Amino acid sequence: MIDDLHEVYAIRYGHHDRRSAENFIGGDPHDVLQPLDFYVWAIVGGPRTYVIDTGFDAAMAQRRKRDLIKPVGDGLKAIGIEPDQVEDIIVTHLHYDHTGNYDLFPRARYHLQDGEMAYATGRCMCHAYLRMPFECDDVVAMVRKVFAGRVAFHDGDDELAPGITLHRIGGHSKGLQSVRVKTRRGYVVLASDATHLYQHIDEGRVFPIVYNSGDVLQGYETIKRLASSRDHIIPGHDPKVIDQYPPARAGLEGWAVRLDAEPTER
Ligand SMILES: [Zn+2]
Ligand SMILES: [Zn+2]
Repeated sequence: MIDDLHEVYAIRYGHHDRRSAENFIGGDPHDVLQPLDFYVWAIVGGPRTYVIDTGFDAAMAQRRKRDLIKPVGDGLKAIGIEPDQVEDIIVTHLHYDHTGNYDLFPRARYHLQDGEMAYATGRCMCHAYLRMPFECDDVVAMVRKVFAGRVAFHDGDDELAPGITLHRIGGHSKGLQSVRVKTRRGYVVLASDATHLYQHIDEGRVFPIVYNSGDVLQGYETIKRLASSRDHIIPGHDPKVIDQYPPARAGLEGWAVRLDAEPTER
């Protein structure tokens, strides 16, 4: 059956220069420059197109002191996806860099874990440390979508379509979900922030923004089990992703890459 094989893309839209010590609980003895990139992803090729996460816009980039490289909508158009035609968006979690641009997709239904909405609207948000990566307006925008009948809730693992499954990982955010996609090279896992960098999952280290470290570490084992190999795992913020996969098409180098193709360097 070929209908369950999908194309998968990563679109880089943002960047943040920082020291490696900022990327790990306990710091980092090397203390080198270790930037984060910001991505959205897309699954194409079946009867429906899925956009995974919606990024942040220029105003939020300024507010959070991040670089917006190219607007998310431009990146999607560059690979042939018109944002106003998108019908399905998977939201991995409700952090500001994954759920902004909330007016860009007027027709979309948003796939979200029950646990993430409960977390982002519940008692944990009374704590400044826990609410720091959330933006009230983003969360309110999602609540409005619930009332507009535009949110599809999932609780744990779920199949969206043949070859596309959601997996609740938790840890970094309480209801974080990763996405597994069947491709021509095997099962690719869009981990999102279940692992920010390859280093986190390779070395069993934890990014400082966290709800539950135990679930982060257990999540690494789940992701390794779900992916066909270590090279089928796509971290949420690693600049290596844009470097080691081939461009989606000529001219999109450094902007959009194909994740269902073999990585070119490791
Ligand atoms: Zn996050
Ligand atoms: Zn993130």
